[in-house]
Amino acid sequence: MGWSLTLGKYGGTTVRLHWSFLLFFVWIASLTLLREGPAPAIGLVIFISLLFFCVVLHEFGHILAARHFGVRTPEILLLPIGGVSRLERIPEEPRQELIIALAGPAVSFAIGGGLLLLTGIPPFDFSAEGVGLLFVFGQLGWINLFLAVFNLIPAFPMDGGRVLRALLASRLGYARGTRIAASAGQFVAILFGMAGLLAGNVILVFIALFVFLAAGAEAGVAQMRSATLGLTAADVMITDFECLRVDQPSSAAAEALIRTNQCEFPVVDGAGRIRGGLARDGIIKAIHADPAMPVADAMQTNVPVISPLHNADQLVPHLSQGEPMVVIAGANGEPVGIVTWDNMLEHLMIQKAQESRWPAAAR
Ligand code: ZN
Repeated sequence: MGWSLTLGKYGGTTVRLHWSFLLFFVWIASLTLLREGPAPAIGLVIFISLLFFCVVLHEFGHILAARHFGVRTPEILLLPIGGVSRLERIPEEPRQELIIALAGPAVSFAIGGGLLLLTGIPPFDFSAEGVGLLFVFGQLGWINLFLAVFNLIPAFPMDGGRVLRALLASRLGYARGTRIAASAGQFVAILFGMAGLLAGNVILVFIALFVFLAAGAEAGVAQMRSATLGLTAADVMITDFECLRVDQPSSAAAEALIRTNQCEFPVVDGAGRIRGGLARDGIIKAIHADPAMPVADAMQTNVPVISPLHNADQLVPHLSQGEPMVVIAGANGEPVGIVTWDNMLEHLMIQKAQESRWPAAAR
């Protein structure tokens, strides 16, 4: 999903802020600064920060429910329309996904209901502006209620989309369930977009665009995951590949880039154990700095490494988050294969071709 800013880490979950959220934040703050001056702008920034703290709590509702079923969540991404928790794997049963999906809106309902009971502020009652903090928390309560309801719209990427998929998946299967929920998401996005254009509401158009793109991305990732269901990493990996050694100069990496059709190379030590990875961009940067620079200094050390016996659907989150490759390593840390996004796409295309051929062959 492109560039993001890391805010912090809690219980094994990294909280990140997407660039579009920063853009939205800066845009709305500077607009308020220009129109109404510094005090309302600072107030707004504090309000949005509080609101996003509530969004993070909503996400932790999902995360704790997922942890209950043994599914870890390495990352939360905060977007202008809310947060997205990336689960490490799909919960095994649709019923588990249903509970995980409902846990977030349940938290928002609880926060919203709690704040409204405490403050008793009616929605957008601007006559109460003088009340100060009480007013702010009242509005926060209403927005939390709105978030809970908005997130229950049965369409991707909203939580309701996951609820819909969980309900459909038990009858139609995971892939078809996802396709229907994603199509619903794009349909809702088009409605939002038209409403935004008719009302001249830029924020609504912005949300519509985001929902549309996110629904498409969700469908893509889900399709990839369902295509890898029941396969291991060993089934989908590239086994014909070259490695670089830590002590080689970057110029040797550049030669390997030309000689092979690889764009990503695992880097191994003298004993053949995986130490990192070097992709095309890294090689070009190193050559630009110093062709004699050892590969060890140019490589990325946190390249994802998994065992050949792992389920292939564990590759998808790494690759969809922009990692150029995942290294598949044996028991002694020796690379036995690599997997790239292109490689996964080829796998998907082959599987689709086979699926569309089988009914014809059966006739
Ligand atoms: Zn949610």
